[in-house]
Amino acid sequence: MRFDVISLFPEMVTKAASYGVTGKAIENKLVALSVWNPRDYTHDKHRSVDDRSYGGGPGMVMKYQPLADAVDDVKNNLKIKNCKVICLSPQGKPINQSLLSATITEVDQLILVAGRYEGIDERFIETVCDDEWSLGDYIISGGELGVLVIIDAITRLIPGVLGDENSAKQDSYSDGILDCPHYTRPEQLVQAGSVPKVLLSGNHAEIARWRMKQALGRTWHRRADLLKYKKLTAMQDALLEEFKFEVK
Ligand code: SAM
Repeated sequence: MRFDVISLFPEMVTKAASYGVTGKAIENKLVALSVWNPRDYTHDKHRSVDDRSYGGGPGMVMKYQPLADAVDDVKNNLKIKNCKVICLSPQGKPINQSLLSATITEVDQLILVAGRYEGIDERFIETVCDDEWSLGDYIISGGELGVLVIIDAITRLIPGVLGDENSAKQDSYSDGILDCPHYTRPEQLVQAGSVPKVLLSGNHAEIARWRMKQALGRTWHRRADLLKYKKLTAMQDALLEEFKFEVK
């Protein structure tokens, strides 16, 4: 997977992505990341990437031409067939685990466009972008943080990136439910209690059963909406009923 980011703040993206899981994945060439600055595609002496909004009102709007030329340059340089241009926007499709994991199977390159100011000239979004993706129903000052969220969430799904392949499979949302609670040493904390006994039993079947029950239970408790779309097995149904009975 290749990520090409169009951003007025290239270092904000490259620096943040150089840490942790994404940093290792880039170092090990499991993913590639380049950032392209629209300011490098301007032709006036002020290198302007924005202008006033037609119709008046506060705030500046990012111009079509520097963004379109940057995207063209990425495409012409790399000529990757399975490519999608995604614009970060609060008006876009809300990103979730299934959208991101489907993307890995559908494309080899994502061109991610980070907006700033009041946003981007609508004609760029309509004619150059394949889709608009949103972080959620709130406004942040620029698309870079959204770009980083997408890069991180996709990178950790790529085979070989995480030390243990199963770790992403157990994460919340990967199978439509939340993850179970986790504990580590010490076994007892005076101020916060002890670790559930079953986790110390060494009985792998019992541990798996307990974890599934907790995962289903907390999904029901915290995110009942997710269970509307999840087809539970007979065993999972029984575990959830057991959980509900126990919390009564
Ligand atoms: N005027 C725009 C609106 O109300 O739809 C918001 C512009 S926002 C201040 C500037 C940029 O930040 C947007 O172009 C977008 O790239 C990014 N942005 C802000 N909130 C976002 C969100 N929830 N999801 C994705 N991108 C967002």
